[in-house]
Amino acid sequence: MDAGSILGFEMEMEAINHALTTVNRVGMARTLPCLETIAVASVYGGNHSAAWSRRVREMQENREHLLFINGMFEFDVFLASGNLKHLCVRGELHPLGISPVSSTSDENIPDVRYSRTIHFVPGVDNLAIPVGPPIRWVGDSPARENWADSMVPVSESIKRYIRMRSSSVREELDYRLEPVGVEIYSSTRTFSPPSIGIGSETSGTPDQQDISVASQRGRCAIMGENSQAELRRTGRPDDWVRWYPSVDTPVCMACGSGVPDQS
Ligand SMILES: [Zn+2]
Repeated sequence: MDAGSILGFEMEMEAINHALTTVNRVGMARTLPCLETIAVASVYGGNHSAAWSRRVREMQENREHLLFINGMFEFDVFLASGNLKHLCVRGELHPLGISPVSSTSDENIPDVRYSRTIHFVPGVDNLAIPVGPPIRWVGDSPARENWADSMVPVSESIKRYIRMRSSSVREELDYRLEPVGVEIYSSTRTFSPPSIGIGSETSGTPDQQDISVASQRGRCAIMGENSQAELRRTGRPDDWVRWYPSVDTPVCMACGSGVPDQS
């Protein structure tokens, strides 16, 4: 696919929709009964994901994103139709991603009975916070990279989710708030303040190297509490966020990756 071509995206979306609709007539339980794990990283990782995310943002701005949402719906139906236990994806928005519109109260939306992990890198800002079982966000950044860069995807995604949820509360009469849970594994041992732009002042905080694991753990706990408070302010009292350092990252049951490079 030509990553820059709108036609390319839409043709790919249609082809995926068509394939999934066909498979969904029978369901994964009959076609692939032993399939228990799916890792989407090999299809939509890296730059491909960034190109898709840009296109989806354009679609959201033009309010033409139903095509995209419908595509994700077919993937959700596919995932729910078998014996899947674990799903992981790399990248934020693409047709085989984690749908941000899942619901436990809408009978048309399939139940999620499997664990979901999104592996992320700096530069993204639209990690999904679906309802249902908690979502896990895992940072792929090695310990030598700037922690500030991988904090941005978390804080921006939470802000984006809050904006989206608040507008749904305002605009959709039958919108029902459902609790969400986010488990984050992301830290590095290096921190320098993010640059704001050419000529602008930074906070003056000196670069910090070799932040100990204990210190990472303490900072993660505080940032998790702050993110949770942000979600609860506009959401429900049982919304929750837990943030852990990267050294605690469990092995992903879908793709097998674990703690990022600590050298
Ligand atoms: Zn994985």
